[in-house]
Amino acid sequence: MIDRRNFIRMLGSAGIISLTDFNHIFASSNTLFSALDFGKFTWGVATAAFQNEGSINIDDRGLSIWDVFSQDKRNIKDKSNAIHACDFYNLYKDDIALTKSLGFNAFRFSISWPRILPEGKGSINQKGIDFYNRVIDQCLEIGVDPWITLYHWDLPQALEEEGGWANRDIINRFGDYGTICAKHFGDRAKNWLVLNEPMAFTSLGYMTGLHAPGKKGLSNFLQAVHHATLSQAIGGRILRSGITNAKIGTTFSCSNIDIIRDTLVHENAGKRLDALLNRLFIEPSLGLGYPIADLPMLKRIEKYLFAGDEEQMKFDFDFIGLQHYFDITAKFSLYPPLLWAKNINAQKEKNIELTSMNWPVKPEGLYRVIKQFSNYKIKSIYITENGAAFNDEIVEGNIHDTQRIRYFESYLHELLRAKNDGYPVNGYFVWTLMDNFEWSEGYRPKFGLVSVDQNMRRIIKDSGFWFREFLSENDK
Ligand code: BGC
Repeated sequence: MIDRRNFIRMLGSAGIISLTDFNHIFASSNTLFSALDFGKFTWGVATAAFQNEGSINIDDRGLSIWDVFSQDKRNIKDKSNAIHACDFYNLYKDDIALTKSLGFNAFRFSISWPRILPEGKGSINQKGIDFYNRVIDQCLEIGVDPWITLYHWDLPQALEEEGGWANRDIINRFGDYGTICAKHFGDRAKNWLVLNEPMAFTSLGYMTGLHAPGKKGLSNFLQAVHHATLSQAIGGRILRSGITNAKIGTTFSCSNIDIIRDTLVHENAGKRLDALLNRLFIEPSLGLGYPIADLPMLKRIEKYLFAGDEEQMKFDFDFIGLQHYFDITAKFSLYPPLLWAKNINAQKEKNIELTSMNWPVKPEGLYRVIKQFSNYKIKSIYITENGAAFNDEIVEGNIHDTQRIRYFESYLHELLRAKNDGYPVNGYFVWTLMDNFEWSEGYRPKFGLVSVDQNMRRIIKDSGFWFREFLSENDK
């Protein structure tokens, strides 16, 4: 007998139901497709050391820029810090088991550079190595693939005191750190991501000052960009030479960009934003250089380039990780100067659902960024982060986060469409396993499939159960 899901799917493919019906049915959460439709696919959750681990003063970990930045309460909206975060440092076994129990086959986490090298360089902290060995071994023991990010924003403070990402020496320091990680973890962990969203940590950390280390200005930003671009490729080469059978990628934040009106002035504003937000880090790795023609202010980066850098910036990644959270509607603007472009505030758009970060929910954006990046003839794409913060409420011990369920259904629908249209997407990681320290926003935004209370008790939200059900199709 045909079940409801297949019946609705049949109506959809016969053109009998419209998009509105489709959305309505989605809202009732009887998903029209299953994990099986994706074929062999990686399904994971993504996490990051600083946002989850806590225990920042334990086992000889050094200070990171985020420890120092969050000490100043003016930098964090709810005046919190990540001293305890989700206590993943102690509860990692349970959290990895929880990931598995929700049906995921991959667990993405990052290595905290100051746990491995408390001073950023020099002597290795064996207790840090031991911790990540335990994490990797737990993943392998229960059958979840470890995916490791080398750098998810927690730079050792000692290196920041030498200029951080704005000092060219960082490329050597990053190379040494990568060599140590490859040597100690590469025998068991085979999936690697070099950098997490270089656009985010260079712009927020070195241009606007909203993230650690809180630096500002175009020249800081451009130096940080160039050194991150070089480190991205150097890190890739180090992992490739140090680890047999590794799959090496790196991640890029990306936004689909619409234009407010089809006039040349707005179109050019859109091109500048596209160069900055989507093209800046991938194109040099492909040997295309920086997108200066479409964003002339980037010309100023040339003074930081040494002979041979163009060649050094290239690396043939096995895959790229796309991280998608919101679309942009571009408009010409006199501010900020040199960029002469801005994003229209999504709150002003009519009939657009917003997350609690005020990011617009526009699932088609995911399809469109996959399409855009596929034009580079990328071998393989993973969505290494996608997710949404909503204001969850605990009602009698349950969290009925139907908005988040609808969000995932609609974005996964677009992901499936991209896959069926032949784009090389091979996996999807939810941001994130559990509510955690959301950088300068503190703990207010809740992105997790699982909530964490003051006693560090984990409560699975309905969205977590939804994934468990969705992914269980794989076992049938
Ligand atoms: C980052 C995460 C962050 C998420 C939500 C991504 O840019 O990689 O660390 O929590 O966005 O803001």
